[in-house]
Amino acid sequence: MPKKIIYLDNHATTPVDPRVLKAMLPYFSQKFGNAASRTHDLGREAEKAVESARHEVASLIHADAREIIFTGGATESNNLALKGVAEVCRDKGNHIVTVGTEHKSVLDPCRRLEAQGFSVTYLGVDGEGLLNVEELKKALTPKTILISVMLANNEIGVIQPVAEIGRVAKERGILFHCDAVQALGRISVNVKALGIDFASFSAHKNYGPKGVGALYLRKSEPRPRLLPLLEGGAQEGGFRSGTLNVPGIVGFGKACRISQSEMPTEAKRLSKLRDRLRNGLLAKVNGARVNGSESQRLPHNLNMSFPGVPAGKLISKLKNLAISSGSACLSTSTEPSYVLKALGLPEELRRCSLRFGLGRFTTEKEIDQTTIHISNIYNELNKVGHV
Ligand SMILES: *Cc1c(COP(=O)(O)O)cnc(C)c1O
Repeated sequence: MPKKIIYLDNHATTPVDPRVLKAMLPYFSQKFGNAASRTHDLGREAEKAVESARHEVASLIHADAREIIFTGGATESNNLALKGVAEVCRDKGNHIVTVGTEHKSVLDPCRRLEAQGFSVTYLGVDGEGLLNVEELKKALTPKTILISVMLANNEIGVIQPVAEIGRVAKERGILFHCDAVQALGRISVNVKALGIDFASFSAHKNYGPKGVGALYLRKSEPRPRLLPLLEGGAQEGGFRSGTLNVPGIVGFGKACRISQSEMPTEAKRLSKLRDRLRNGLLAKVNGARVNGSESQRLPHNLNMSFPGVPAGKLISKLKNLAISSGSACLSTSTEPSYVLKALGLPEELRRCSLRFGLGRFTTEKEIDQTTIHISNIYNELNKVGHV
């Protein structure tokens, strides 16, 4: 029997909650209808399930069900928001403001838009990973059409001052998009209170299935406009054509319903475990340090540098531990994290950083095993000298 894996990579993806899987299963088999087939019961049954999931997702983010567009994941939601707004607002202006520590699925569409004649300001962050709202204000011009700032970072878990940014955007009549993927189900996300016009979400970062996400699109007046990326059957109000992924959407809805009732308790439990891991590692590893703000932070995230031992080396010895040095999307490259670079962390510390993402199924025993395992291997490697 292989040793049980301790999974601490919940920012990359989360396991599907068994309750979510159970809710999804009938929609692969006996309830297989197309949600757009209104001429028979199978279709209407699928449509009903989709609409019920739409309510669950909306309810978790304090939105109206009509404001939710289902997509194939948050990469698509981010592309839809950025490119869809840019195209429709071209006459008004060509300037977009975002942050250097955003996810690649925001940064790369911005690069594409730059190639098409848009101008993009990439704001920096301070040593804690937080952006300065005064700096953001200074970057705005009469040509600014969109601000895109994430709610919580996927590497260091820091929470940006999104409510303040929402107020600034509203005052200046600029649209505001927020990648809220990592925050969903972890902290309260109230799109109305945060003043968000568009928000991106992904099911698989919150114990739902991969390949399904949502874009929140504010419907109150003045209604923001958006052009679709995909055209065809005009599903999702024409904003996202394509046959709906009914089982995936049902799973997403169930995952949101579970978060609605369990989030407060889960957040407390995870932040306690996270602090236990942090304290244990700080005590056992000489020179270890935490990266990113500790006060403005997701409850289940920890990012630490262990000077002297490159993360790749450490990870390769941590056999039964599923962990990463940063974003999963970048783990194929040997480039150290651009997020940690933006915090001003020197290269030798960036190369020695680990990201811990705790989750619903993480136990205290696993945290204690992780602490011992990492500190033992670190001390062994550091003695040998692998710098
Ligand atoms: C994972 C992630 C995405 C991409 O979501 P997918 O559904 O995997 O496409 C976008 N933004 C952030 C912050 C993420 O963590």
